[in-house]
Amino acid sequence: MLNSEQYEQLLKEMKSTVYIDGEQVPNYWLHPRMKPAFNLIKATYDMAQSPDLDGELHELMTMKSNITGEKINTFLNIHRSSNDLVKRMKLQRALMRFGAGCFGARCIFGAVANALWAVTYNLDKEGRTDYHERFKKFVARVQMQDLVVMADITDPKGDRSKPPHQQSDPDFYLRIVEKRPDGIVVNGAKFQQSGAPYAHELLVLPTTAMGPDDADYSVAFTVPSNAEGVFFVTDSTASHAKFEAMPLEDIGAGEYSMHESAHVFFENVFVPNEQIFLCGEWHVTRDLVQLFTDHQRLASSSCRMGYIDLCMGASQSMADYNGVAKVNHIKDKLIDMSISVESICAMITGAAMTPQITKSGCVAPNTMCINAAKLYMNDAVLKTAQKTMEIGGGILLTRPGTRDLANPKIGPLLRKYHQGRDGVTVDDRLKMARLAETLSGLACVTPILSVIAAAPPAVNRLQFRFQTDFERNVKAAKRLAGIAE
Ligand SMILES: Cc1cc2nc3c(=O)[nH]c(=O)nc-3n(C[C@H](O)[C@H](O)[C@H](O)COP(=O)(O)OP(=O)(O)OC[C@H]3O[C@@H](n4cnc5c(N)ncnc54)[C@H](O)[C@@H]3O)c2cc1C
Repeated sequence: MLNSEQYEQLLKEMKSTVYIDGEQVPNYWLHPRMKPAFNLIKATYDMAQSPDLDGELHELMTMKSNITGEKINTFLNIHRSSNDLVKRMKLQRALMRFGAGCFGARCIFGAVANALWAVTYNLDKEGRTDYHERFKKFVARVQMQDLVVMADITDPKGDRSKPPHQQSDPDFYLRIVEKRPDGIVVNGAKFQQSGAPYAHELLVLPTTAMGPDDADYSVAFTVPSNAEGVFFVTDSTASHAKFEAMPLEDIGAGEYSMHESAHVFFENVFVPNEQIFLCGEWHVTRDLVQLFTDHQRLASSSCRMGYIDLCMGASQSMADYNGVAKVNHIKDKLIDMSISVESICAMITGAAMTPQITKSGCVAPNTMCINAAKLYMNDAVLKTAQKTMEIGGGILLTRPGTRDLANPKIGPLLRKYHQGRDGVTVDDRLKMARLAETLSGLACVTPILSVIAAAPPAVNRLQFRFQTDFERNVKAAKRLAGIAE
């Protein structure tokens, strides 16, 4: 298995073409906006190597390959049992709790590889292809070489109401433009690819179920990230600005916590036959999409559990620093967060313990349970973010920066007035406030302003306690029930 220096060295040697903010950038992974997610991918290598960084994560990050028998990174596993799925859930949760950032370049491969494993197995049984054997060799190679493989799914899609062959531009979904004896040529793009530039290889597959007229779009293959005709344009989000404008300490988990994604372009890219895993077989695309979405929903729901764990930690710390840790409404909110995260855990565990067992022998999460988990998680994350803001208070948004604090005139005053309860340093309170702001995921003015300004909800609720005519209602109920006053 590689260590993080070897992982980085491979990226250096590949010299993939990556644009950031309109410019091609050579050592792109060191760019301020790219570095946090790169650090987290590097950490997956370091943790797999050594238990010292985090014993729990070391244990979860490695396992024995059921293909080669060798030790591999868990992200590259083909799942054979419920326990494999549960291990995957625990890994996603613990890694998010460690870094609070996106490790999509590692995690999405698992979803796609497991789905392709099952679908190519079934396809080869029809007797016309040898995709499964090719795919097996590919998975064994990336396991042995310990590569980061980005699975690229989402197409630009143009008019969403139309299938690929009816789009005004035929490239809106990635497609085969030429078939040769030794391979195919593909053209198109994949959008919103989390962590794609950090990968050594790309594993491409269709984003939706295809019909008979979409055979040219029914294609799955792998190419190295530096293949001729492949290039990346990193996405642009307002959150990037802070990584270029602010000191890292002002960001909150700045070392790791930035989601980074890219558009990946394939301009007439040649794919040799041995790297093709689907080439026109539109009839299996529905099963393929169903399977990879089930797997990916396990991954993303599990990830958010780690996020809720962290929100609980940051909220509890802020409450402590503010001197309100023992207040009932705060304790209730923390318990609500715990109920949310353990409910997600129960649903994912249910999905893992009642799995779909494919003919190939690999397993996938139970579809209904995992979709329930994903939907429940969506709500839980937003509610948790709001609770984190409520508990933390306005300081999440309004804290002074480290450069203000360093100024000899205003620094001492800012420190004096940002003191929380006695015994807590101002710096700790400010650091935790910034982490809580980042974690709330809503680190812009409107959400925090809406929840906290003009009083936090717990204060608003007091009005109802004082002004509701509870007595009138009790009297009315008693009268109707025939109970004398
Ligand atoms: C931060 C982030 C990271 C991501 N990472 C990855 C990744 O690593 N790899 C990857 O492959 N993808 C990734 N995605 C893509 C993600 O899977 C898509 O965003 C998602 O599938 C929705 O597609 P879209 O954004 O194009 O939305 P749209 O298709 O534009 O959908 C917008 C709205 O229109 C509705 N809609 C669209 N089409 C129809 C239709 N035919 N009928 C009815 N309603 C419709 C949708 O339900 C939705 O409400 C990522 C996305 C984000 C935001």
